[in-house]
Amino acid sequence: MSENIVEKINSILPQTQCGQCNYSGCKPYAIAITKGEADINQCPPGGEEGIKNIAKLLEVDFKPLNKKHGITKPISVALIDEEACIGCTLCILACPVDAILGATKKMHTIIEDECTGCELCLNPCPVDCIEMLPIKEGNGNQIISRRKSNQARSRYEFRINRIERDKNESNAKRKLLASSSKKSRLINEKRKSISEALERIKKNEF
Ligand code: SF4
Ligand code: SF4
Ligand code: SF4
Repeated sequence: MSENIVEKINSILPQTQCGQCNYSGCKPYAIAITKGEADINQCPPGGEEGIKNIAKLLEVDFKPLNKKHGITKPISVALIDEEACIGCTLCILACPVDAILGATKKMHTIIEDECTGCELCLNPCPVDCIEMLPIKEGNGNQIISRRKSNQARSRYEFRINRIERDKNESNAKRKLLASSSKKSRLINEKRKSISEALERIKKNEF
């Protein structure tokens, strides 16, 4: 199936980027559906509405949410107890949309408007100072607003690109270091053999 179908499925998915579908984000799950590697009912935040929309797009039968992947909860945002935070930065590393601000040994805080409610920052926190606050009561719909989901998609893609770029830069630096140390070893070996040759010439002359 084409990239176009992947994008259409991805645009139905809620962009919570929580990984409950067993994929690292909404787009990888969309790709897996198009490849026939994942079923259409693995996204708890998208709930029944999401499954119905994907089924309609792909012209396949609706099937209820596979509860193995979790249940659809009311949308919520994370809140850090800033008094208890020890500034370990583990939550920043876990957040798929860069919604947490802070620095090493400094108190951390959540940018509420960017938080998708994915809960991925909860487990890594060593002092349990993050809690989820539901911001939408009652209907069990975890789908965030279209504006917020577009924003989450861009922030997720930006983060993935940044991680990839940082990895490439650090690989390039490692290669550069390796090649410059190889170069200086060759230069040293050359210098050594020239000076040994000169020594031999001197000895033969006198
Ligand atoms: S919202 Fe979570 S479960 Fe749904 S597709 Fe995105 S990453 Fe997967
Ligand atoms: S702050 Fe926590 S709950 Fe909110 S998006 Fe980031 S990891 Fe998910
Ligand atoms: S993981 Fe917890 S303690 Fe560490 S910076 Fe985040 S909120 Fe603070």
